Amino acid sequence: LLQMVAERMRQQVRAGDVVARLGGDEFAILQDSVPHQREGAIALATRLIAVLGEIYDLEGRHATVGASIGIVIAPQDGDKVDQLLRNADLALYKVKGGGRNDYRIFDKALDSEAHDRCRIECELHEAIAADALQLHYQPIVSLADGGVCGMEALVRWPHPTRGFMTPDRFIDIAEDSGVIVQLGEWAIQRACRDAALWPDHVKVAVNISPSHIKKRTLFDSVARALAQHDVKPQRLEIEVTETVLLRHDDEILAELRRLRSLGVSVVLDDFGIGYSSLSHLRMFTFDKVKIDRSFVGEITERPDCAAIVCAIAGLARSLGMATTAEGVETKQQLKLLRAAGCTQAQGYLFGRPQPAAAIDLATAV
Ligand code: C2E
Ligand code: CA
Ligand code: CA
Ligand code: CA
Repeated sequence: LLQMVAERMRQQVRAGDVVARLGGDEFAILQDSVPHQREGAIALATRLIAVLGEIYDLEGRHATVGASIGIVIAPQDGDKVDQLLRNADLALYKVKGGGRNDYRIFDKALDSEAHDRCRIECELHEAIAADALQLHYQPIVSLADGGVCGMEALVRWPHPTRGFMTPDRFIDIAEDSGVIVQLGEWAIQRACRDAALWPDHVKVAVNISPSHIKKRTLFDSVARALAQHDVKPQRLEIEVTETVLLRHDDEILAELRRLRSLGVSVVLDDFGIGYSSLSHLRMFTFDKVKIDRSFVGEITERPDCAAIVCAIAGLARSLGMATTAEGVETKQQLKLLRAAGCTQAQGYLFGRPQPAAAIDLATAV
């Protein structure tokens, strides 16, 4: 079908124009020396929408194709290819957001951060649906025996034009827009599938956002994913930040309790930053506390950091919780963390996040 689409496009352009496939179902048409740039581009876009919309006959089966077209004009909309493509993309996504099968000429107003956020949101929807996201895993090491006892799943987005994206580029957009729920469901499914790659004593940790827990569909999707991939609930850890506690929301706590009753561990992530308070540890029975890497990073220089880590680890122990020190990069940090009574460690010292297939448990430590 895409070949037929390309052929129809070729028939609409002049000799010497370029029709290129950018990947997926996206194409670019490049025209040089168009006499009336704006009018010329609009005329071509109008023709393309009409022609591409005509029925396709695929050996008896029929298909229709809608086109969303973004137009940029050089040099006013950019003098570099990257910039032009990006601006054309902005115009394109404006069309997609507004009902498709239309064109839009780029203008400077589109080039605002708000539009970029919208676009990332839209693309993220598509990426999840197309199974284009990846999970990388970072080992968590038990300080009792030095062996790997867990893997934290961290989402990655190899993006066709924006490059390989880490979560700082899109997690807060996902949270604002609600896509975070689909992302979380996908991550649970994928992590349960990947759990089979490692022995039973290796747990798999998935980050889940508070708004997802609030939806109260989490329990069902966790139970389903575990059953589907034949993974014991004891092997799954759900990491939540303490913002879940700040809301003083009984529904959230009830959902977390339901998960624990299933046998899944609930872990308090990033402990020590923001509004953290030791009293949070009393609000819910967590299985584990992860000490934020900002403390770990300074533990060798600042005695107060060492004292705080000691206090957290001691309190956690007395409440029956494990502790993971995050962001461990040096042997010296590790030594102090061990002395402070942390039970687990995670960080570049043991391994960076990597695709599941690239992890060799024997050499991970
Ligand atoms: P996090 O849960 O605190 O994850 C640990 C982050 O620390 C990861 O960043 C990891 O790559 C980084 N890290 C690990 N060891 C070291 C170290 O030794 N030094 C330094 N400097 N950094 C280290 P990443 O992968 O960029 O993830 C950032 C955050 O995005 C995560 O923080 C988590 O809050 C969020 N996130 C990641 N994946 C997901 C997901 O699937 N769902 C949700 N809701 N959030 C996610
Ligand atoms: Ca598309
Ligand atoms: Ca985490
Ligand atoms: Ca963390």
